[in-house]
Amino acid sequence: MSEHDVIVVGAGNAAFSAAMAAREKGASVVMLERAPEEEAGGNSRFTAGAFRVVYNGLDDVAELVPDLTEEERATTDFGSYTSDDYFDSIGTLTEYRADPDMAETLVHQSFPTMKWMRDKGVRFAPMYGRQAFKIDGRFKFWGGLTVEAWGGGPGLIENWTKAAARDGIEILYGTRATALLHDDDGIHGVRVKRDGKTQEMRGKAVVLAAGGFEANAEWRTRYLGPGWDLAKVRGSRFNTGDGIAMALEAGAMPWGNWSGCHAVAWDRNAPPFGDLAVGDNFQKHCYPFGIMVNAKGERFVDEGADFRNYTYAKYGRMILEQPGQFCWQVFDDKVTRLFRDEYRIREVTKVQAETLEELAEKLDDVDGQAFLRMVREYNDAVDTETTFNPAIKDGRGTSGVQPPKTNWANKLDTPPYQAFAVTCGLTFTFGGVRITSEGQVLDGEERPMPGLYAAGELVGGLFYFNYPGGTGLMSGAVFGRIAGSSAATAVTNA
Ligand SMILES: Cc1cc2nc3c(=O)[nH]c(=O)nc-3n(C[C@H](O)[C@H](O)[C@H](O)COP(=O)(O)OP(=O)(O)OC[C@H]3O[C@@H](n4cnc5c(N)ncnc54)[C@H](O)[C@@H]3O)c2cc1C
Repeated sequence: MSEHDVIVVGAGNAAFSAAMAAREKGASVVMLERAPEEEAGGNSRFTAGAFRVVYNGLDDVAELVPDLTEEERATTDFGSYTSDDYFDSIGTLTEYRADPDMAETLVHQSFPTMKWMRDKGVRFAPMYGRQAFKIDGRFKFWGGLTVEAWGGGPGLIENWTKAAARDGIEILYGTRATALLHDDDGIHGVRVKRDGKTQEMRGKAVVLAAGGFEANAEWRTRYLGPGWDLAKVRGSRFNTGDGIAMALEAGAMPWGNWSGCHAVAWDRNAPPFGDLAVGDNFQKHCYPFGIMVNAKGERFVDEGADFRNYTYAKYGRMILEQPGQFCWQVFDDKVTRLFRDEYRIREVTKVQAETLEELAEKLDDVDGQAFLRMVREYNDAVDTETTFNPAIKDGRGTSGVQPPKTNWANKLDTPPYQAFAVTCGLTFTFGGVRITSEGQVLDGEERPMPGLYAAGELVGGLFYFNYPGGTGLMSGAVFGRIAGSSAATAVTNA
């Protein structure tokens, strides 16, 4: 195979960002995708395409979405999500463990990177469906997450793929990178398995963007801990940690929250890996408006601790820790108008009942008597003085029950009641390799490894414990662009 300036391993959002940035600098670029073309695009393709970006109001939104209509402008309160808000989200959610330099790069580069993506052919739209509520005739965005890729994850990958073809970047599908070619002078390419044959591909620089190890049951158990082998994988079955393993074998330093991951409430009967036909719709993210109940008939978490964007990524772990690794999300009819589309799909594990007693019988594997006792106590604890408002943290909580519910508490008293069975769906892992501010991988002695760059899920140091929704794609784009650009600059200057 011919030698390229830059070999990018992967074909998700981080990989495309790296490849396009390297090409822009004049490097010849090839992308290696382990998946066949029909399953290509990694976790990025499974997403809704939500991007967490700094914006200071309508004008910034309009720069990313120039085709915003007059009516949308007139009837929408986009609010703002400032740099300070972004730092605050990352700081508090990661318990101030996030690498400050990485956080700074992410925050300050988020808006310019999205504008760059637009210039490259990616399109964006406001996330009306999932991130805005209509209050008094006006849409109000909440939770700092306002823009999505046009067409969601599939649209994002489609537009990136077209852009790469336009710029002369070849994508080799069904090509699994298995090792880095390296010696004392650095990285010189990759070994790949393609059509059952092992081959070597020479390259002046390699950018690893091959995702985390979420689809590797053995690594999950080893690093996340016992029980994680039982989690469902929300996205790609191809992210088995290959990129991380290759880098470590070549001397890279492990970095970040190796025992941490992003995991959510996910349909109990979903398949073991993601299904592109369903996308992210196995997730069940309306729990702030109901309660979550385990096999013992008990609540186990503050469902209304914060907007779902700030709690959903850590609640999967709490569900995994419940007996039988499942719970039921229970709602009454007052709140079902707030349901996201994912509650209405055909592939849903749902029961409905006219009375709480009937519901208790229908909740598979739950102690029904304990459930009914708990609901009585919970209903008595709800603050009915404060007005319910889903677009703000309304402070309508409970008093006297454990755990408390801090916002959006309502009595369960209006039939029909609906309940949804969920388990833990693992999105991606937080541990990986360590990079410099130029996106170059550091070795165990904290020296930059010549010719090796990385971006996306397989980079550690940014996420710990929890995660603000929409940051995975944004960080992949920001650090992918930096890694690709640095790799190209290094090889074209050599
Ligand atoms: C269901 C779901 C919904 C999500 N929703 C959102 C959202 O709305 N917003 C958000 O910000 N984040 C979301 N995320 C998280 C987001 O998907 C990731 O953070 C982000 O896409 C990671 O991008 P990446 O490029 O690092 O990895 P990926 O997109 O997973 O790409 C990794 C690539 O590497 C390839 N690969 C793996 N091993 C090899 C190998 N050995 N050789 C060659 N190629 C290899 C894979 O096939 C894939 O192409 C969601 C994730 C899931 C699963």
